[in-house]
Amino acid sequence: MTHPLARIDFRYNTQHVPPKVRAAIQKNTRTAIVKRGEAVAQLGVATWEQLRQAAHDLKLHTLTHLDAYLPQLEANVIAAGGVVHWANDADEARRIVLALARAHNVTRITKVKSMLSEEIELNEALGDAGIRALETDLGEYIVQLDHSRPSHPTNPTLHYTKEDIAEIFRRELGVDAPPDPFVLTEIARQKLRAEFLAAEMGISGGNFLIAETGTLALITNEGNGRMCTTLPPVHVAIVGIEKVIPDWNSLAVALSLLARSTTGQQLSAYTSFITGTRAGGPREFHLILLDNGRTQILRDPAARETLLCIRCGACANICPVFQNIGGHAYGWAYSGPIGALVTPQLIGTLRAGDLPFASSLCGACADICPVKIPIPQILVHLRQRVVAGDAFAAPVAPPAMQAGARAGAFGLSQPWLYELGSQMLKFAQMPFARGAWLPSLPPPANRWTLTRPFPKFDATFRDWFRARTPQGRAQKQTRALGAAVLALGAGALLFALARKLWRRK
Ligand code: SF4
Repeated sequence: MTHPLARIDFRYNTQHVPPKVRAAIQKNTRTAIVKRGEAVAQLGVATWEQLRQAAHDLKLHTLTHLDAYLPQLEANVIAAGGVVHWANDADEARRIVLALARAHNVTRITKVKSMLSEEIELNEALGDAGIRALETDLGEYIVQLDHSRPSHPTNPTLHYTKEDIAEIFRRELGVDAPPDPFVLTEIARQKLRAEFLAAEMGISGGNFLIAETGTLALITNEGNGRMCTTLPPVHVAIVGIEKVIPDWNSLAVALSLLARSTTGQQLSAYTSFITGTRAGGPREFHLILLDNGRTQILRDPAARETLLCIRCGACANICPVFQNIGGHAYGWAYSGPIGALVTPQLIGTLRAGDLPFASSLCGACADICPVKIPIPQILVHLRQRVVAGDAFAAPVAPPAMQAGARAGAFGLSQPWLYELGSQMLKFAQMPFARGAWLPSLPPPANRWTLTRPFPKFDATFRDWFRARTPQGRAQKQTRALGAAVLALGAGALLFALARKLWRRK
């Protein structure tokens, strides 16, 4: 059954991450980051940076010219024997898939890993209609067996250990296997083989859509993608409209970045290109182009770069927040920094208003992103939407937070008030100070000190700046000299006045 979405309580979710899961996530993300670093070094940092800029520019160009590239794509898919469907939202996409399944009396479907399928809750809708939809990517297969959800954009089983997986196989498949990846993979392979042969429909997503030839590019590391898109008589691909790119040259740039960012490979093991129907393949190819809020994102110039994402998962791997909580805490199909951007924009800040705050804004995600999405800037933009509202959504933050933000904005825009407040803080903290720390503060600051002490305020930012830079020290000396001259002048004046008064007496 598809579910009406409840509000995502990110704070609650982060407090319920088992330590074992945290350890598995840290180990796996660390490995991914090391491999990615090696792959980038092998290519050369200068080349890598050129590719990033080229990918950013070409994706942004395509996004701002969808009115040209999407009709070109549609015409070429149709010319190659495919059928194109347009879906405004998740409900329409599900209805198209169900109608196709019913038209072909489909009862068994094999699926290629697709985050968009999670986004529209396709498996639940198919299950409601009595159709068995089986995930065939090894990670997705394990997650589906465990009745769980993927925890990472590209590595759905990031939160499991091999012991966990052996236990899932024992419980769900009735096989008593050792926690050995090779043995477990072989068991999954044997189970899936019969399913590939029996499926009446294959469903995939798509990494890129090449407008100039109407081609779907599918990037996988397992042979399951090809099995799902060649063996069943009907192939349905559901792809977001932002995945279109102009031509094969653009694809070459994107492919140079994707696998290196995801797994540290130069190229993924399987790169499949599907152009309509062909001899020996499915009799029917259907491409469902899904909007589901993407054109709304496109309308916002400050946030539209969100749609450049090629779903590599590198931002999640590098994110210190993700490394400590994993993907489930983000509460929806997309996790990590890209989840914190996409989710509030697709399902609204009323439900996902916590997510733009799920970041330390350290900027590591923007530095690693292969298409140079300015993630921290967009997060700040969305925070503003949550607190103050904008042309796209009304404010949803609690009134106290909105009032606090307004007060903060006013204080920060008045230098004298800011300086006065900083000086007053030095005195206000005295009752709470213990040495160099503030171990316990009254509400609302106790939300912080409940878990860790706060460092004592020693100086204002201006003092700090003056003490640490030559420019600041020079400013300080000038101010001190000015103050001394003023004090001397005032002293001399007072002395002259006093003398005058004395003489009059
Ligand atoms: S935002 Fe960038 S780093 Fe994150 S998944 Fe998308 S392309 Fe990869």
